[in-house]
Amino acid sequence: MVKPVIIKVDEGLDIELEEDFIKANERIALLNRKIFDKYNLKVFDFMGSIGSGKTSIIERLVEALKGKYKIGVIAGDTSTSIDAERISKYGVPSIQINTGRECHLDALMVRRATKKLLKKGVNIIFIENVGNLICPADFPLGAHKRVVVVSVTEGEYMIRKKQDIFRAADLAIINKKDMAPYMGVNIENLVKDAIEANSKIKVIVTSAKTGEGINELISALEL
Ligand code: MG
Ligand code: ZN
Repeated sequence: MVKPVIIKVDEGLDIELEEDFIKANERIALLNRKIFDKYNLKVFDFMGSIGSGKTSIIERLVEALKGKYKIGVIAGDTSTSIDAERISKYGVPSIQINTGRECHLDALMVRRATKKLLKKGVNIIFIENVGNLICPADFPLGAHKRVVVVSVTEGEYMIRKKQDIFRAADLAIINKKDMAPYMGVNIENLVKDAIEANSKIKVIVTSAKTGEGINELISALEL
């Protein structure tokens, strides 16, 4: 087990949803992308509510891919280090960013954490954004793919009510397929809702618990 690094954010882009901050973040995100490409790093931003299964999905990906790539994980949370500690058990470097009052990661936080992971020689970074389906949509981090994770336990209207984040994402994961029969949720309808929000989005149905859909996800991430 590698101990996660924990960063508490006390300054940075102190962010309200204001035009200036969003523009500043976008500029930094573009620079991040240049840094990622310069170092041949592939970076993925996983967004979604608390409990949707972001960490579990990343755990399955780390298990499947850690023999092939040097993986690092950046986990955002307002106050805990639970996610990075879970990832640490797989022996990959992880950085927990505690955002305090901020309910999303921003590009500057990710740049600082990336510098630390580059020193560990990583060539893939999975970012777990702060659990929240709203403002992460407005704060790109420079990642090559943005992935939104929802679970069937969030109910049947979830996607229709949070369309913006689906518009911002390249890939949608509908997780906890194993729970669908108990929740009375029709997965086909969730897939349709995602495509209705964003006709270009690719939708993968998974169960992080059983491993179903993880290989399909790996192909969709081009890994
Ligand atoms: Mg988590
Ligand atoms: Zn926020």
